Amino acid sequence: MKLNVYTIERSITTLGPYKRFGLWVQGCHRNCPGCIAGQSHQESDGRWIDTGALSWEIIAAKETEGLTISGGEPFLQASALAELIGKVKAFRDVGVIIYTGFLLEELDALPGGRDLLSLTDLLIDGPYVRELDDGKSLRGSSNQRVHALTPRYASLLHLYGAEGRPTEEFWHSGTIHTVGIPNQASPTSTLK
Ligand code: SF4
Repeated sequence: MKLNVYTIERSITTLGPYKRFGLWVQGCHRNCPGCIAGQSHQESDGRWIDTGALSWEIIAAKETEGLTISGGEPFLQASALAELIGKVKAFRDVGVIIYTGFLLEELDALPGGRDLLSLTDLLIDGPYVRELDDGKSLRGSSNQRVHALTPRYASLLHLYGAEGRPTEEFWHSGTIHTVGIPNQASPTSTLK
């Protein structure tokens, strides 16, 4: 299968514990006011990448403990993501963290949703609500919930909603990408 990808960063530190492989998928219909990832909304703007080829990139990123998937809306491509993660896990024990605008209770009913959930260690759910943006770490607004679906990160839940919002910057072809969850005042916010 192919996955519609917005962008990739091979080693990030601001969207979960440890060093992580960052994957942002393309396509989201939700249009949350204040969304910082507007470039990831239009499906036609993405890059289609074969899950096999992408899995080898993730397997090769051995300095990372796991994978954080955001977007865009990951659960609109749940089947392809489940296939990707399955291929990676056949060779490496990676942890999987996913940000979704859906609620956990909605995911089972989506095509491929149950498969992707079964491969997810930590899920941050719910849409971004600008009025509830309290500037806390690792989530965009206070309505978003953090679910430890496996024990892997269960002892690290205190990191979510803590004080501070670290961000990091990457340059690609003259374009700056800010990774993390920046405060709304940040002028260079491009990714979540
Ligand atoms: S915040 Fe997330 S769910 Fe909301 S529009 Fe942006 S990408 Fe979509």
